[in-house]
Amino acid sequence: MKAVVYDAPRSYRVTSVPDPEPGPDEVLLRVLMAGLCGTDLHLHEGEFGPRYPLTPGHEIVGEVVRTGEAVTGLRPGQRVVLDNTSRCGDCAPCRRGMGHFCANLRAQGVTEPGGFAEYLTAREANCFAADDLPVEVAVFAEPLACVVRGLDRIALSPASDVVIFGAGPTGLLLAQLAAHSGAGRVTVAAPTPSKLAKAAEFGVDHTMRLDRADPSSGIAALRSLAPDGFDVVIDATGAVSVLASAFGLARDGGTIVVYGMAPESARWPVPAYEVFRRELTILGSFAQLHGIEPALRLLRTGRVRTDGLITHRFALDEYPQALAAAGESGCLKAVLVP
Ligand SMILES: [Zn+2]
Ligand SMILES: [Zn+2]
Repeated sequence: MKAVVYDAPRSYRVTSVPDPEPGPDEVLLRVLMAGLCGTDLHLHEGEFGPRYPLTPGHEIVGEVVRTGEAVTGLRPGQRVVLDNTSRCGDCAPCRRGMGHFCANLRAQGVTEPGGFAEYLTAREANCFAADDLPVEVAVFAEPLACVVRGLDRIALSPASDVVIFGAGPTGLLLAQLAAHSGAGRVTVAAPTPSKLAKAAEFGVDHTMRLDRADPSSGIAALRSLAPDGFDVVIDATGAVSVLASAFGLARDGGTIVVYGMAPESARWPVPAYEVFRRELTILGSFAQLHGIEPALRLLRTGRVRTDGLITHRFALDEYPQALAAAGESGCLKAVLVP
């Protein structure tokens, strides 16, 4: 079969590899669609713990082709989305119920073969039936599962005033779920007008143009929108320049959420006295944890909309173009359709 295979950071080929064989408790999936996200751009640079040779792709919709002999709940032809992570269940974090910190965490598309391929195998336990969802909706299950985890971490107080930096797919999913999780007002700030228009279409209360190179006028406008500060400031960009403005926008006692993935080497000066004096909370959220089922519920009810989020589609051979597109400002979600 054809697959994207990395042997080192930035070094990959779209090449022919042996077809994977499902184990007894696994299924063979034909990849119907696999989304690219910021994580894949970091993996391309060798960040986020890749294990080589690596086939990336962790946002996966597949069709069951064949089942291992111990598989009982899935049959060929079924459409599934994948929880790409597997936890050992035995290590200290697993035993504390914090499986995303598992010492032996395996993640398809990061440490194991992922979905930028024609086929992949997956444990039955990691597959979630999604026959009732269009492929282009189901492909958002994994990123939305991460957003579910983020909202779980934030534990919004009712009617909270929330501002989100970033209007990529993640920012747009976060904004919608925040609105459905008790926010009293949701504002999205980002540089790209077309993305802000999408945020408005999805029911966000305010959108704000924020130039990342010169954020001062956007920040001033946000401050006039919430003179006492926002209850929750969420960064979905991973840009340190954006995070730096979070302290000035959070209200006393407010929460700053580091949701976007910064480069591993990025450093962010934190005003320690302000955190102390103003009782600020800084929290992170990096991955989903048992979030696929809730995410599918949100997609099925349409509480969280994804229409129009896929802006670019590519074949496997066009992986270089897909990578380039995923880094462009006009791109929301780029997907590979093997
Ligand atoms: Zn992702
Ligand atoms: Zn573990």
